[in-house]
Amino acid sequence: MNDNIFLGIAAPGIAGLKPYTPGKPVSELERELGISGSVKLASNENPLGCSERAKAAIRVELSQVSRYPDGSGYELRNALAEKHGVDAACVTLGNGSNDVLDMIARVFLRPGRESLFSEHAFAVYPISSQAVGADIRVTPARNYGYDLDAMGSRVGERTGVVWIANPNNPTGTWVEGTVLEKFIAAVPGNVIVVVDEAYIEYVDESGYPDASQWLSRYPNLIVTRTFSKAYGLASLRVGYGLSHPDVADLLNRVRQPFNVNSMALAAALAALDDQAFIRRSVETNREGMAQLITGCEKLGLGFIPSAGNFITIDVGRPVGEVDTALLKQGCIARPVANYGLANHLRVTVGLQEENQRFLRALEKVLG
Ligand SMILES: *Cc1c(COP(=O)(O)O)cnc(C)c1O
Repeated sequence: MNDNIFLGIAAPGIAGLKPYTPGKPVSELERELGISGSVKLASNENPLGCSERAKAAIRVELSQVSRYPDGSGYELRNALAEKHGVDAACVTLGNGSNDVLDMIARVFLRPGRESLFSEHAFAVYPISSQAVGADIRVTPARNYGYDLDAMGSRVGERTGVVWIANPNNPTGTWVEGTVLEKFIAAVPGNVIVVVDEAYIEYVDESGYPDASQWLSRYPNLIVTRTFSKAYGLASLRVGYGLSHPDVADLLNRVRQPFNVNSMALAAALAALDDQAFIRRSVETNREGMAQLITGCEKLGLGFIPSAGNFITIDVGRPVGEVDTALLKQGCIARPVANYGLANHLRVTVGLQEENQRFLRALEKVLG
């Protein structure tokens, strides 16, 4: 679309952007191919759905849809503050955590400043950064994961924000606590460090840090979390940032009024209260991950060990053709060539039968 006739009057940075590519919805695939019963393992959604308590809370809110939501998200913010042992003034609610990432870019980046992240990092970091005209600096990955030494050496005068997804999407790699804290401690206090913990509920690795524990030590640290993944509320769009209250104050100045709707607020609050659902989700993920790993090994395929609810597989050939063939088999996974991983396919851990269907289709396609 670089022949777009309005490009000349668009803000700087927009020309270099491509729209985010989401996973294909099941309905679209089935309409295109005239099939049914396909499986979607493309967007790291929770295959168990969400907590029944969240659904009940949504039903109650239905009677109030003509009213604006509580613009301050009072109850949810207080519940989150209690969960994390921080003041409610440290919590910024977002329309998904992507919204919080976008607020961070708008507050702390601008033309002439640099946004620093790793190769293969989450796609929203460049989108939000370039949209506000910041310069992008990408450090090479090491073994598909973050090279924090390389990142640290690139922090300079112009650096505004450093982004770290832990675990990272789409690689599933993670950074160990002592290494991460050492990195944060070495970053100058006037550079914002974002630790994006979208998948933290799934992580079961010793040495994996909960960066929210460090908030009181590093006022320039922002930790983001989401209800889209383990909590299974992706369509409602609710996430949050935890930070120093002065950082949260600035984020809240650019936050759109009513950015989190009433159903999302109520569902998230109820979901927080159902940790048994989270435990079940984590257990389902653990079993499904083992199943996918065994499947990959049987097929002789390499993969990147993942701490999240997805696994990124080396299919040994350009992933576009593999993806197309899988779609014909009714399997939607996520090719990640746009993340600099030309031969890799990211697959979300699903229910046992979904994983099985995917592995069978993959075998057939690669056969
Ligand atoms: C899925 C994901 C998010 C969450 O996005 P929401 O806007 O909260 O749905 C954030 N960061 C990473 C790395 C993700 O993979």
